[in-house]
Amino acid sequence: MTITRNADLSTLNTFGVAARATAFARFTSADELRALIAHPDLQGLPRLILGGGSNVLFTRDWPGVVLLNDMRGIERIGETEEHVIVRAGAGERWHDLVLFAVEHGWGGIENMSLIPGRVGAGPMQNIGAYGVELKDTFDHLEALRIADGTLHRFDATACRFGYRESFFKREGRDQYVILSVALRLTKHPKANVGYGSLKSELDKRGITIPTIKDVSDAVIAIRSSKLPDPKALGNAGSFFKNPVVPTAVAEGLKPILPDLVTFPSDAGHVKLAAGQLIEKAGWKGQRVGAAGVHKDQALVLVNHGGATGQEIFDLSTRILESVKEKFGVDLEREVNII
Ligand SMILES: Cc1cc2nc3c(=O)[nH]c(=O)nc-3n(C[C@H](O)[C@H](O)[C@H](O)COP(=O)(O)OP(=O)(O)OC[C@H]3O[C@@H](n4cnc5c(N)ncnc54)[C@H](O)[C@@H]3O)c2cc1C
Repeated sequence: MTITRNADLSTLNTFGVAARATAFARFTSADELRALIAHPDLQGLPRLILGGGSNVLFTRDWPGVVLLNDMRGIERIGETEEHVIVRAGAGERWHDLVLFAVEHGWGGIENMSLIPGRVGAGPMQNIGAYGVELKDTFDHLEALRIADGTLHRFDATACRFGYRESFFKREGRDQYVILSVALRLTKHPKANVGYGSLKSELDKRGITIPTIKDVSDAVIAIRSSKLPDPKALGNAGSFFKNPVVPTAVAEGLKPILPDLVTFPSDAGHVKLAAGQLIEKAGWKGQRVGAAGVHKDQALVLVNHGGATGQEIFDLSTRILESVKEKFGVDLEREVNII
């Protein structure tokens, strides 16, 4: 375990913004994590757990220690006629877990191919894509409570998953470190192709009865063509959540937005497409200094090179205010602001 002082975080966040941490260390086991928490040199410093840095925005230097979860390993820990339980270390790349499942013919997470970041952050915001969320296959996770170093098992109920939400993003924030995640995958998968653009991509490829490998390949192709690669253009994917509003609010917007996109949600509510509202408010492709809104994906804020985290944050505030003023809808940031 090496502790680096005054560590550079610019390559550890996909926005690529400049930031430094008072201290930085990686851990590969629960014992190493406990040792870092108890380390005399790190006492009194705030702690930030980091995975791939693909869902954080550093608005300033971090006046504490960044602990990077490097716990590895993917293994099958249980099996029935129908399912396998696969457990992955929180430091594994999420996409590697997806590829592992697809290679073994175990279904359930193929629609979430190519989501950046590490396994441990998956439950944090209940990651989701192309009609599937982590909670759909979630079995349990193991987490270490920072206050006393004890290990705790959380099932789906304890995780309180919601749309891009969980116990760990709300009440449990900064109290637990997720060490491993176990998923219940099906041995007899049925492709889930309800999502429009996924179906079109498979049609384009002439695939009528897709395997989970076909679905994964199609998702990879769509994502690669649609989303900016953070290595080329700093970003953290969707910056805002899609807002859930009462159905009456959506109806009220139709006269000014006749092509308003809505998705089903809880009774009496619909989910709006935040990207559409941002685009209709005139922000798509806009730039404020080196911070900008992606030219094709209004939901994605980008760093054109040299933007500070504060500039990107300020741009997001202007977008929030503008959407509220034009449409009366409150947007909420999905990215974790540090
Ligand atoms: C191009 C692009 C596309 C994306 N597409 C999607 C998408 O389709 N769907 C989606 O849901 N997300 C998407 N994201 C967002 C992001 O990839 C996910 O939220 C991912 O799960 C973040 O993983 P990470 O390891 O990078 O987390 P980080 O950014 O390192 O951390 C995110 C948060 O989780 C906390 N955290 C991280 N690891 C742990 C742990 N082990 N224990 C406790 N807390 C922890 C951190 O403190 C932080 O608050 C996208 C991002 C990019 C850049």
